[in-house]
Amino acid sequence: MIERATTLLGSAPEQARDLARQVRSSALADPGLLSRALFVSGSASLGKGEYKAADEELQAAVAQAQAAGDTVLVIKALRNRLKCAFFTRNADEALLHGMEALELARDCGDASLLALTHNDLGLIYGNLSDFEGALEHLLEGLRILRENSPSRLGTLLNNIGNVYLELDDHAEALTFFRSAAEAIRAEGDSWRNEAIALGNVGRASLGIEKYDDALEWLERSLAIYESKNDPVYLAPTLARYGSALAGAGRAEEAAVTFGRALNLIDSSTHREFADEVLYEFGKFELAQNRAEHAVELLSRGLDEIPAGEVTGRVHDLHLALARAYEAVDDARESLDHYKAYHRVKEAVASSTITVRIRRLMMQFDVERARQQEELFRLRNVHLANANAELQELHRQLEEKNQELHEISIKDALTDLFNRRYLDSQLGVEVSRAHRYQRTLCAAMCDIDHFKEINDRFSHSVGDEVLKRIAILLRESARVTDVISRYGGEEFLLILPDTDLSGAGRFTERLRARVADFPWEDIAGGLRVTLSIGVALLDDTMDGPSLLSAADERLYRAKRDGRDRVVA
Ligand code: GH3
Ligand code: MG
Ligand code: MG
Repeated sequence: MIERATTLLGSAPEQARDLARQVRSSALADPGLLSRALFVSGSASLGKGEYKAADEELQAAVAQAQAAGDTVLVIKALRNRLKCAFFTRNADEALLHGMEALELARDCGDASLLALTHNDLGLIYGNLSDFEGALEHLLEGLRILRENSPSRLGTLLNNIGNVYLELDDHAEALTFFRSAAEAIRAEGDSWRNEAIALGNVGRASLGIEKYDDALEWLERSLAIYESKNDPVYLAPTLARYGSALAGAGRAEEAAVTFGRALNLIDSSTHREFADEVLYEFGKFELAQNRAEHAVELLSRGLDEIPAGEVTGRVHDLHLALARAYEAVDDARESLDHYKAYHRVKEAVASSTITVRIRRLMMQFDVERARQQEELFRLRNVHLANANAELQELHRQLEEKNQELHEISIKDALTDLFNRRYLDSQLGVEVSRAHRYQRTLCAAMCDIDHFKEINDRFSHSVGDEVLKRIAILLRESARVTDVISRYGGEEFLLILPDTDLSGAGRFTERLRARVADFPWEDIAGGLRVTLSIGVALLDDTMDGPSLLSAADERLYRAKRDGRDRVVA
């Protein structure tokens, strides 16, 4: 029965899982059988995208296979756990499983498993923008396959091509993609892998501006996807085809092709490549002087990407958006996107260094656990080298961090600290107050009816008011107070060593200064007032709860008529 379940895994995962679960309930005393049943049902769940359930079963499979002494199954289960972690964006855990699988595969001498595990690790590092680490693993995997079992070469070659593509080395990428396409055909691999490889040859040709070649290869790839009606890859391949048409000077056909690609992603739930389609189409529209449409497409592209993700695609999108906004004469948005572009670029550089440090550390963790007897030698030789490298990387990281830190803690308009900095500083101040039993207050200030000020006067009067208030805040506060622009027209003050009555007096004075300021000098009829909520830190509170206490009081100040302090 378990053999049947294993065979069904590729074609009918649902059935495979049912069978495996039957085996599982009757095999409780037999770790060999139990581990295989757990592996099949976990792998079936993985195929269906149920990553949490899959990982639990695979973890149990690892334990049972260890008990049964079945190392090959342990490795297979670990590789699938790696995939679960990868798809749920948990790169650290994926790397740990990969490293462990790698060590085991090395020990048990299964060349093909070892090579495929190198392949997995290569993909993860590539995804983390550590292209050096990615290439190391992929090339090692390739070497092992060539020496031992020349199968699955196509997969490795293709993934290596992808890394070169990321590194913008299109010529090198092209060489690998061509070999990949040949190998995949020779190996009789799946239609999808063949279409991917053909499409990639087209993509690399596009990169070196060989548009006619690109069109030819992409057409071959498209023919396969179209005949299979592939929901995931058809749209991005069409978008690349559109770019190739545009490059070949066939703008009208390109526009039609991009339109088709856009329709496909709009009518599908598959979002894997939506950002790429929107980016390529947006760039094309910009080049065609349809900047407003470009802005719309590129903004949608950015929305497709989870907030906080720092990748090459994100900075490409920001740069394209900056240019598109420039073309529609929106200087402010354009500047914002230029800034975001630089910020993301810095962040990519710094996270790459972090990943490399983590890779080195993790290699040591795994080896330390697995090779006790080697520890001494490792310490003396490898560790010494790696330590030097680690230290150098640490130094670089610190340098980068310092640079990033300086540009990232201030708000450009008011020169006050920004929200991100405040959020990090709040934790520091709160724990200091707890540790040393000092009082600490937070005051949340919000300009009253600020929207009306913008609407009635102008946005630039609004900005002037914000700057003025920042100056008043700075003049009123003590040097130890931390003053920040927390949101559009909200300011948050952290007041160390201040009790509630002191904070109340201080904010009342501030409120009066703002209300009495000669705003008329800025614009006739202008009046500005502040509402302020003040809260005192108690033993049970942390940073966020202190802020929400202040916020609650601010809300009360608004409700009670504004231009007042509630403490
Ligand atoms: P309330 O008294 O209830 O606080 O009303 P409000 O109008 O101040 O509050 P609301 O949150 O509705 O409006 C805040 C406005 O602040 C809306 C937004 O356009 C404006 N704003 C945010 N950031 C800036 C900025 O950098 N410059 C300018 N001029 N206005 C901004
Ligand atoms: Mg507000
Ligand atoms: Mg307001």
